[in-house]
Amino acid sequence: MKNNFRIISFYKFARMDNPESFLEDHLQYCHYHGLKGKVYVSHEGINGNITGRVSAVENYKAYLKGFPRFSDIWFKESECQDFAFKKMHVRLKKELIHMGVENINPAEGGKRLRPAELVEMYEKGEDFVIVDTRNTYEARIGHFKNAIIPEMENFRSWPRVVEELEQYKDKAIVTYCTGGIRCEKATAYMVQKGFKNVYQIEGGILNFIQQYPDTYWQGGMFVFDDRKVVEPNTKDELKFTAVCHYCGTPTAYYINCHNLACDKIFVVCKTCRDEHNHCCSPECEASPHKRPRRYD
Ligand SMILES: [Zn+2]
Ligand SMILES: [Zn+2]
Repeated sequence: MKNNFRIISFYKFARMDNPESFLEDHLQYCHYHGLKGKVYVSHEGINGNITGRVSAVENYKAYLKGFPRFSDIWFKESECQDFAFKKMHVRLKKELIHMGVENINPAEGGKRLRPAELVEMYEKGEDFVIVDTRNTYEARIGHFKNAIIPEMENFRSWPRVVEELEQYKDKAIVTYCTGGIRCEKATAYMVQKGFKNVYQIEGGILNFIQQYPDTYWQGGMFVFDDRKVVEPNTKDELKFTAVCHYCGTPTAYYINCHNLACDKIFVVCKTCRDEHNHCCSPECEASPHKRPRRYD
C-alpha cells in the first residue's frame, strides 16, 4: 500500500471572529473523516499539517476551500507511507506564530521570491544574504547553501537576530522557513525596522525542494511530525549537513535526549544513539528519570 497517504501543510492569515466555534466544527470534521494532524486556529487565521488517505485529504482540501476566507489557501503536498501523526489536534492560539511583538502585519512583509528566482540568484552569483528563520536545531540538519544560521531557541529570538542583521541592511536579504509562515512575520518585522530589500521564499523549503532537489538545499528538512526529517536530495554530498554529536559521522538524524530533565534535541547517528541509551551526555545517561523507550 505504498504512497496511499498524503501529508498537506498549509496556512492562511485571514481574520476570524469566532475561532472557537470554527475549532469545534473542524475537529469534528477531521475525526469523522479519519484525518490526523495538528491544526492551529486563531483570530489571525489557520495553520496546520494534516495526513490521511489520499481521498480523505482531497475532501478536506475542498472542505477548507469552501470557506470564503480560505478559498485561495495553498496546500503544500507530499506523499507519505502512513499517517505522519498519531492523533488529530485542533488548538486555539492567540497568534498563529508567536514572536512576542505586537502589531506585525504579515500583509506588509518581504517580497515573494519564487524557487526559480532563487536558483537564478545562486547561478548568477548575485550578492545576497540568505537567512534561516527557523530554530537553530532545525537549521543544523539542513539549510540553504551559504545560509546564515542564527542562534534561535524559538521564534521569540527573531527581533534580537534582526539587530544582528543590521550590518546587511543595504543588501538583498532572502529569508526562508519550512512552509513560509514564519517568514511572513519575520520579514514584516524587518520591513518595519527599515530593511528595504527583503525577500521570502514563496512556499518555503517545502516548495523549493519539490521543484529543485539536489541544487542549493543541503541536508534534511526538519518536520514536526512522526517522519522527523525529510531528505530530498539524492547526491551524497548534498545529503547531510550535520554530524553525529558523538562520532562525527554525517547524518540528518536527531533525537530528544531521553533524560526528561534535559530533553535537548541533538544530532546523533543511530549506532551512537543505541550505545548511549538515547542520551546526550554521561550525566543524562545516569539520570533516573528517563523517557520510556518508543519504537523510533
Ligand atoms: Zn555516531
Ligand atoms: Zn541530555
